Amino acid sequence: MKIKHQISRLQITCPEQFDVEKILLQSHKHRILFRAFEEHMLNCSRCFRIVRKIHKFYEILDKEMQKEASPEVVAFAEAVYADKEKTINN
Ligand SMILES: [Zn+2]
Repeated sequence: MKIKHQISRLQITCPEQFDVEKILLQSHKHRILFRAFEEHMLNCSRCFRIVRKIHKFYEILDKEMQKEASPEVVAFAEAVYADKEKTINN
């Protein structure tokens, strides 16, 4: 990703997919970068598609997180946690 300063605006070129996610997740920390990306995305179908995919991923993740975990998953998580506690305490 190249960052180019202009008189009063920041312009960016296409960031890597991983960087797009970081820009979105840390938008509150880097407002100027986020705004520059937002402006870029409106004119870039590649980045727009990446943002849509990321949005879809978090939408699915959010739905999955709201589902109740199966008893097998809970038992497994408890076993892993107990094992970790044993390792820490010994
Ligand atoms: Zn782009």
